[in-house]
Amino acid sequence: MSFVVEIQPQKLPESSKSVGIDLGISTFATFSNGQKVDAPKPLKKRIKKYRKLSKSLSKKTQGSKRYEKARLRVAKFHALLKDTRTDFLHKLSTEIIRENQTIILEDLNVSGMVKNRKLSRAISDLGWRQFRTFLEGKVEKYGRDLRVISRWEATTQKCSCCGFRGGKLDLQVREWECLNCGAKHDRDKNAAINILVAGGQPETLNGRGGKCKTTAKVAAACVSGSYAKQNVNPPRSYGSVGIPVPNSRGGCQLLIHLIFV
Ligand SMILES: [Zn+2]
Repeated sequence: MSFVVEIQPQKLPESSKSVGIDLGISTFATFSNGQKVDAPKPLKKRIKKYRKLSKSLSKKTQGSKRYEKARLRVAKFHALLKDTRTDFLHKLSTEIIRENQTIILEDLNVSGMVKNRKLSRAISDLGWRQFRTFLEGKVEKYGRDLRVISRWEATTQKCSCCGFRGGKLDLQVREWECLNCGAKHDRDKNAAINILVAGGQPETLNGRGGKCKTTAKVAAACVSGSYAKQNVNPPRSYGSVGIPVPNSRGGCQLLIHLIFV
């Protein structure tokens, strides 16, 4: 039996904070304030057990009692992995929603990335997509704002201080220095700040570049106007950066499934 109930959002007290989040493999999430969160990666920790269990299952004759037992063991193992991930993602998403009014994520091509055989297991072990789903649900429930910027927005390559665009960075490069203004960047934090800015939020209360020095070259560029557009970040229209236009639905719907055995 399935039915839909309309629920009213439980409003949390308004917060002035906003956060850009960069999702990654080695560090699950890096926030634009520099905070980093690691994922539990339950499968990576139990990879030996996983191989043992699936090998044992593959050697049993289908339909036999032993097969059924082995199948149950594999199923329980997967349930454990799922619970560990879900628990982590729920706690993290709730914490983010409580603290921030606006949350900005990058639209990741997860299904495309999973096709890379070297990365597919690591990515599936993290639960990026589920994280976004949880955030989407909680944003509606608690009256917050979630924006997702286009995956084509340059976030890793761009210097978050001056807007200078360096070349493509190899995945191993975790820290780099801007060739234009000399600012030293942590790869993920820089990307998170760019995500925040692309979502129409200033990364500090005073706009761009709290700690960065403005070099003569940048200053000249600013005056001549080539960086002027990037230095001030007026709230851009939703469509231009790939942010879905928020819908005006007041309450949100909760679909409940009841299964009678
Ligand atoms: Zn720079």
